[in-house]
Amino acid sequence: MSSEARLDFSVDHPQSYSSPWEGEQRVLTYAGRCESCGIRTYGFSDGRNDPRGPLGEHASHNMEASDHFMAGPQVVACFSCMNDQQRYHSLLAVGMRRWKKTDR
Ligand SMILES: [Zn+2]
Repeated sequence: MSSEARLDFSVDHPQSYSSPWEGEQRVLTYAGRCESCGIRTYGFSDGRNDPRGPLGEHASHNMEASDHFMAGPQVVACFSCMNDQQRYHSLLAVGMRRWKKTDR
């Protein structure tokens, strides 16, 4: 049996993942459902959420208010929606309703 941990994309609790290539223990946490397509998204504590890796389509890529000179909670998003122009704009519209302008 492989020492590589299996990731379960149906649970909310943190999971540890040991990469056979990087030889390190990583912690995966549930980030919520993508607010565009509804897929369950997950992120590693080190922030390296490459969809070509073990996360695949579940890779978290949340939209940050500060990137748009606003303040407020993140919009939960998956990697593929953040890279799709139409879905990106629908996520941005969610953020604009939720966020407040900063003083800058
Ligand atoms: Zn999505």
